[in-house]
Amino acid sequence: MTNLENINWSSLPFGYLKADYNVRCIYKDGKWGEIEVSDSEFVNIHIAATCLHYGQEIFEGLKAFRGKDGKIRIFRPEANAQRLINSAKGIKMEPVPEELFLEMVKKVVKLNERFIPPYESGSSLYIRPVEIGTQARVGVKPADEYTLIIFVTPVGPYFPEGFKPTKVAVYREYDRAAPCGTGRWKVGGNYACGMGATARAQENGFSAVLFLDPKEKKYLDECGPANFFAIKGNKYITPKSGSILPSITNMSLQQIAKDMGLEVECRPIPIEELAEVDEAAECGTAAVCSPLSEIYDNDNDKTYVISKDGNPGPVVTELYKRLQGIQKGDIEDIHGWNTILD
Ligand SMILES: *Cc1c(COP(=O)(O)O)cnc(C)c1O
Repeated sequence: MTNLENINWSSLPFGYLKADYNVRCIYKDGKWGEIEVSDSEFVNIHIAATCLHYGQEIFEGLKAFRGKDGKIRIFRPEANAQRLINSAKGIKMEPVPEELFLEMVKKVVKLNERFIPPYESGSSLYIRPVEIGTQARVGVKPADEYTLIIFVTPVGPYFPEGFKPTKVAVYREYDRAAPCGTGRWKVGGNYACGMGATARAQENGFSAVLFLDPKEKKYLDECGPANFFAIKGNKYITPKSGSILPSITNMSLQQIAKDMGLEVECRPIPIEELAEVDEAAECGTAAVCSPLSEIYDNDNDKTYVISKDGNPGPVVTELYKRLQGIQKGDIEDIHGWNTILD
């Protein structure tokens, strides 16, 4: 068993640490079976399983937080359940019923309660559900058997040095998803598509790639694992596109922006409009939101400077604080987003 005595909760990386248990459920003969609790970090699957050959893999990511009041809050698990269902339908895998998903999420968090970082650390428990096609098939056809696994791992604050803006790059020679492809679903294969571009960006000193719409290469899509939004005057603007993944963080920030009196616009955003925005950020469960200081358009050798002094802007900072406050229980959860573990 992992020894937690000497662990420094506030300096955990966004990485993997073995927790005590994971939960699993198998779909076979037309139905989901019983929830199994496992202490193994491995799966034993057939060498011809469809997930290994034909990319039948979808996943989710969400977090649980320990509050100042000692309560454990899981952020919007119903939204993740619905998105996992959409992803499954999108690539013809078996959808996991919402109730089963929620029961498994609560169970795995409860079983690993000692891994939920203390409130003061700024860290949280990352929950990773993954569904794979496990039937042996050589012909290309969706499997009739699936395995859902949910594991957890404590993760540190995404910004160990504080909330600092980063630079991202735009390259027109790469796409992460096709115009009518799988970008709108949380499919592992989308990440495979983005790896080359991301590696190149990182070699050149950028934190990530900001992908353009794959059809016209005119509009902003999203960053590899995170949605994009910007603040322009009194507006929160975020791309509308058929090839981006609907981020639950983005949806939540849009609501908070409205609560703050901002107007929300979800529409195609031409890359040139970056010259007119006041603030920009990428958002997702891992980082909540990560401000952007510069966006470099590689093909036109043009840099859009978003933050002149290298500091995060006031609106992005406020959005970040409010969302984190709700997640940790410091700010009233007026939209009923948290599931409190009993
Ligand atoms: C998971 C993911 C996000 C972020 O979604 P959240 O629900 O906010 O965590 C954004 N883009 C892509 C491509 C993703 O896979």
